[in-house]
Amino acid sequence: MASYRGHLMLAAPLGAAYGALALTRPDADWGTVILAASLTSVGGLMPDLDSDSGVPVRELFGMLAALTAVFLFQPLRETGYTIEQTLGMLIVAYFVVRYGVSRVFNYLTVHRGMFHSVPAMIISGMLIYLTYPSTDYHLKLYFAGGMMLGFLSHLVLDEIYAIDFNGLRIKTNQFAGTALKFTSPSWMATLVTYFILFGLGYLMFNDVPEWAQSTTNWLAMLRR
Ligand SMILES: [Zn+2]
Repeated sequence: MASYRGHLMLAAPLGAAYGALALTRPDADWGTVILAASLTSVGGLMPDLDSDSGVPVRELFGMLAALTAVFLFQPLRETGYTIEQTLGMLIVAYFVVRYGVSRVFNYLTVHRGMFHSVPAMIISGMLIYLTYPSTDYHLKLYFAGGMMLGFLSHLVLDEIYAIDFNGLRIKTNQFAGTALKFTSPSWMATLVTYFILFGLGYLMFNDVPEWAQSTTNWLAMLRR
C-alpha cells in the first residue's frame, strides 16, 4: 500500500497536467485550472477515506468537510437564505461531515474494500458532476474527470504496491482485494455500491438533456 505522500506525489503532477488542459480553451480561466488540479489531487487521496485511523484520514475528512461547505454556499444562497443563515448552515455542515460522516464511514467501510474499486471511482466523479454549482455541463464533466483521474491514479498505485517482489499478493483483510476491482467478497458492500452507482447514473442521465436526447435518438434508430 502506497503512503499518503506517495499518492499525493503521483496525483499532484497529474492534477497540474489535467488542470493545464483547461488553458487550451479560448476562454481559459485560471480559476478553472486551479480547481481542476486540486480536485485531481484530492481524488488521488480519496480512496483512503476508508482507512480507520491516522492523521491522513483525519486530514482528508477535514478537507472533505471544507469542500462540502464550499459547494453548498451557492445553492443555499440561491434558495434565499440570508448570508448569516447560510454561513451558520455551512459551519454545521462542516462539523457533520468532519465528525458525523467520518464516524459512519469508519463503521461502514473496510480498508481497501469497495471504496477501492472502479465503481467507487465513477461514483466520485458523478458526485462532483451532480454537486458542482454550474449549468455548464462541459465544465462539470471536466471537473468530474479530474476527480476520477486522481482516484484512478490511487487505485493503480495501490494495485502496484499490493504485489510484493515475489509477485504475491499481500492480504491485509479478508475483504481487501485488489484495488482495481469491480466487486468485493462482501456482496452487501458490492450491492450497495452498485445501487449508489445506478442511482447517481440515473440522476446524471436526467441532468444532461443532450445525452438523453442522443441516446433516445440512437435507440429509436436501432428499433427501425
Ligand atoms: Zn489506498
